Amino acid sequence: AAKELGRNRFRFYTTMMQNDADERLRMHMDLIDAIEHKQLKVFYQPILDLKSGDVCEVEALLRWQHPKQGFIPPDKFIPLAEDVGLISQLGEISMKTAIADILEVNKDFGLNIGLSLNKSYREFFGSVDDGDEPWLNTLLSPAERPPITIEITESILMEDDQVYQILDKLRKAGIKIAIDDFGTGYSSLSYLRRFPVDWLKIDRSFVRDIEDDHEDLALVESILAMAHKLSLAVVAEGLETEEQLRLLQMHQCDMAQGFFLARPMPLADFRHWLRERNAPARIAGDR
Ligand code: C2E
Ligand code: MG
Ligand code: MG
Ligand code: MG
Repeated sequence: AAKELGRNRFRFYTTMMQNDADERLRMHMDLIDAIEHKQLKVFYQPILDLKSGDVCEVEALLRWQHPKQGFIPPDKFIPLAEDVGLISQLGEISMKTAIADILEVNKDFGLNIGLSLNKSYREFFGSVDDGDEPWLNTLLSPAERPPITIEITESILMEDDQVYQILDKLRKAGIKIAIDDFGTGYSSLSYLRRFPVDWLKIDRSFVRDIEDDHEDLALVESILAMAHKLSLAVVAEGLETEEQLRLLQMHQCDMAQGFFLARPMPLADFRHWLRERNAPARIAGDR
């Protein structure tokens, strides 16, 4: 009986693995289609300066508008794109679109909002076929671009020498470096000494419970103290409540991003959001 069970279980697993492989292959083909038919959209989420309340940056976040499945979030297709070698194409699309969009927004509104771009591991280092870091050319070649921040995770910083050269090139071009999801990686903090980093973005898992969890609040306070001693600015990710905002302001957090302030939005909505914010206070003025 045990043997029988074992065999069935084996069959069950292989069927599951087959389905997984089929599913991945279908998504892979769909993703090639998506690139061709322009189904990849860039959404924008504002990052606010907590002292002035101004929008200092927007983060470009990719969405896949699938004809049958609706909007597919990046966590579902970026890892796949990395595996099948499509990540640099996705990166090109999001970089070019976002640079053009934000340049235009800045011109129209007379602002100088910065643009934060995410770079995943394999995109950051490029691949053998692509040559080295083709994204650097896309980023550095346009005559005009908004102020740019490149968001990388701690895993990228573990590659030492190679990283240093790329970060140095970015730095020399006036581009800022942010450590995304700060606190969730495995690397040692010594990279903060070795690399020219500008911002730490505290992962939202640390921000989520600061209202009730003393230890989480203590961690956030410590990150802020350390960052400020090293002259780094801190962004809190995943700000969802007014109380979190109050606590972060109280502890001199520099910037924040989260649903409480604004959700990631398509360009038209972002423009509308900016217009509403910048509009003179009509109600007060009309009285
Ligand atoms: P991330 O860079 O850490 O981006 C922040 C994520 O947190 C976004 O998820 C955003 O929608 C979400 N978020 C923002 N505020 C809140 C909040 O208050 N509460 C909660 N629960 N979530 C919030 P999203 O858009 O699903 O993106 C997921 C990840 O996919 C990003 O994490 C980033 O690592 C990656 N990604 C997105 N766009 C790109 C891209 O163009 N290229 C690359 N390489 N990666 C990207
Ligand atoms: Mg990010
Ligand atoms: Mg993050
Ligand atoms: Mg993330």
